[in-house]
Amino acid sequence: MESNVRVRFAPSPTGPLHIGGVRTALYNYLFAKKHNGTFILRIEDTDQSRYVANAENYITEALEWCNIPFDEGPGKNEKFGPYRQSERKNIYKEYADLLIKTGWAYYAFDTSEQLDAHRKGHEAEGKTFIYNWHNREKGRLVNSLILTNEEIQNRINAGDNYVIRFKTPQDEILRMEDEIRGKITIDTNTLDDKILFKGDGMPTYHLANIVDDHLMEISHVIRGEEWLPSMPLHILLYRAFGWSAPKFAHLPLILKPVGKGKLSKRDGDKLGFPVFPLEYKNEASGDVSRGYKEDGYFADGFINMLAFLGWNPGTEQEIFSLQELIKDFDLSRVSKSGAKFNPDKACWFNQQYMQSKDNVELTDLYTPVLKEKGVLKDQEYVLKVVSFIKERAVFVTDFWELSSFFFEAPIEFDVKASKKNWKEGTSELMTAVALFISNIEDFSSENTEKEIKEWITNKEIGFGKVMQPLRLSLVGKLAGPHLFDIIAMIGKKETVKRIENAINKL
Ligand code: GLU
Repeated sequence: MESNVRVRFAPSPTGPLHIGGVRTALYNYLFAKKHNGTFILRIEDTDQSRYVANAENYITEALEWCNIPFDEGPGKNEKFGPYRQSERKNIYKEYADLLIKTGWAYYAFDTSEQLDAHRKGHEAEGKTFIYNWHNREKGRLVNSLILTNEEIQNRINAGDNYVIRFKTPQDEILRMEDEIRGKITIDTNTLDDKILFKGDGMPTYHLANIVDDHLMEISHVIRGEEWLPSMPLHILLYRAFGWSAPKFAHLPLILKPVGKGKLSKRDGDKLGFPVFPLEYKNEASGDVSRGYKEDGYFADGFINMLAFLGWNPGTEQEIFSLQELIKDFDLSRVSKSGAKFNPDKACWFNQQYMQSKDNVELTDLYTPVLKEKGVLKDQEYVLKVVSFIKERAVFVTDFWELSSFFFEAPIEFDVKASKKNWKEGTSELMTAVALFISNIEDFSSENTEKEIKEWITNKEIGFGKVMQPLRLSLVGKLAGPHLFDIIAMIGKKETVKRIENAINKL
């Protein structure tokens, strides 16, 4: 059974992929890999009115950046292809016709004006109009259930616009099973007769989705909770076709950090965090939305954070490599209730990953920044800088702020700190310090520390009186790593020069 696991991520290319979509892709990926199965990407682009040209590229690039590549999909192992529904158009009509033939579906000729009138009429009475068993054969609606075969043919031949609707069975309590939510029952009389095939010759999501899941031999449908209301129709469609249905798992929503409801782009804009994996430029409006990648998040940390939005391993462990996630991921540990998004936790994950990253990798990431600023030094030097600052960094984008003084002298001095620490007599004292430093032979961090501290002790001055002005001279503020590491890194000449510069300026 294990290797028969085939799951799909089936986004509609209507814009950038929200992190909720990335999490759906991730859970599908983890589930597939755990069971030696296949992870499929299918592009559900049957709704032409919502189609966005660059969205599919965005989706594949996002999966690539997240390091959760699909095994089958557009342009890759097209065994069950094509994988874009717009390229499978001719398949669906045949299946819609089959349902008409078997009595599971019917033609409906109601015009949009007629349907609008029904809706308005119901609204006026405080009711909601539903097209289903209670009115479909009453004569007010125009469909093949009440027309004669001849009338139907005449209408079709005359080019009348029609849709194909599902004939939902009446008076049945439908029992369903969801891998996460358990048993679910629904009274079929509450369902409406959904459109399966539209007047424009395109299937609706429901028909295309079921036909493709069947033809692509999907074993498990793992998707967002917003599709739970469609599950009864989908189960009924499998029954109508005489196919066995895959297993279903509906994932909990990702919720706003504060307040109620689904996490939206607006929450991200308001609270200052991205809701998209990659930066996205809306071609129509020119708006650019932030991305996790461009904001400096590590892909593996981002994935780790996402995995925990709705799933937990049942232990205290929070840091999981992708391989560990594959091993431990289990649908039975996915929660039923929504998962609150926490932007601080996203930063926390990144910080954790920062600490465990190899310094060479971080050096490679920092190098272009230094190059652009025109202060790049040899790799060994940058590597050391990285090792000094990484524990204080959350993002690579923090590196410059934390380490600029390793590459260039401070341009200005922190006003408050200068006022407090550069007092009467400090300039004279620092002149003496500079002279002493210029005579130190062994300029290692350990030795400069030893000699300077001895010098201070012998002079019987408080440590702070020398150390604070010294730090100010070298860094420009009272921050940064171990002072003697900085001294050893920038070297004797630069140290003395910076002290002299501070004396002149402060
Ligand atoms: N095309 C649907 C979406 O955009 C897919 C839903 C499903 O996975 O069945 O989310």
